[in-house]
Amino acid sequence: MITDNLKSIQSKMVGYTARLIAVSKQQPDNRIDESLDLGIRIFGENKVQEAQARWLQRREQCPDLELHLIGPLQTNKVKDACNLFDVIHTLDRKKLARKIHDFKPRMPCFIQVNTGNEPQKSGVTFEELNNFYQFCIDLGMNIVGLMCIPPVDDDPEIHFELLSRTARELGLKDISMGMSDDYELALHYGATYIRVGSGLFGKRPT
Ligand SMILES: *Cc1c(COP(=O)(O)O)cnc(C)c1O
Repeated sequence: MITDNLKSIQSKMVGYTARLIAVSKQQPDNRIDESLDLGIRIFGENKVQEAQARWLQRREQCPDLELHLIGPLQTNKVKDACNLFDVIHTLDRKKLARKIHDFKPRMPCFIQVNTGNEPQKSGVTFEELNNFYQFCIDLGMNIVGLMCIPPVDDDPEIHFELLSRTARELGLKDISMGMSDDYELALHYGATYIRVGSGLFGKRPT
């Protein structure tokens, strides 16, 4: 099943330079190992502890792994996150920026943008973005791009378009957007990383 899903996703990525992040959160171990056998090396996790349990050991057997944190990060977990992950997609506040910078000054980070201004969602608003971006740059951080999770009930198109345009305006090369249901649209709007979980591994067990 994963083989077929992967082929289908890869066929849609032809002609784009985007990379696929296999979102392995909550997936059973046998699916993870199957995907490793298929050659997948870029994985996304949303919880630090869950990711440690899954990847610390595997990382030793598989040195070319690339692990992306795509979930919210609490400041008390920054040290562990910096030790495990290669990229953080959810930078969204000054306190967190300072902490990450303390532990790993050049950690590649995406700034998460709350494109739909949703009160319950993390991310900076477009209004706050310039100021926050400048703050991170002044700290000496390695900001590689912007990331968003559009509101579930919205057409993602306007969010992708706006995130992409804003990244270009800031001169940022990477754009992390698009999940199982909308990654094709995200590719069309210039995503350089798509984050696909259930569309690759199958439904997450509840
Ligand atoms: C879970 C998750 C995904 C993957 O979602 P699917 O619908 O399973 O593809 C992508 N991005 C983030 C931030 C997630 O939390």
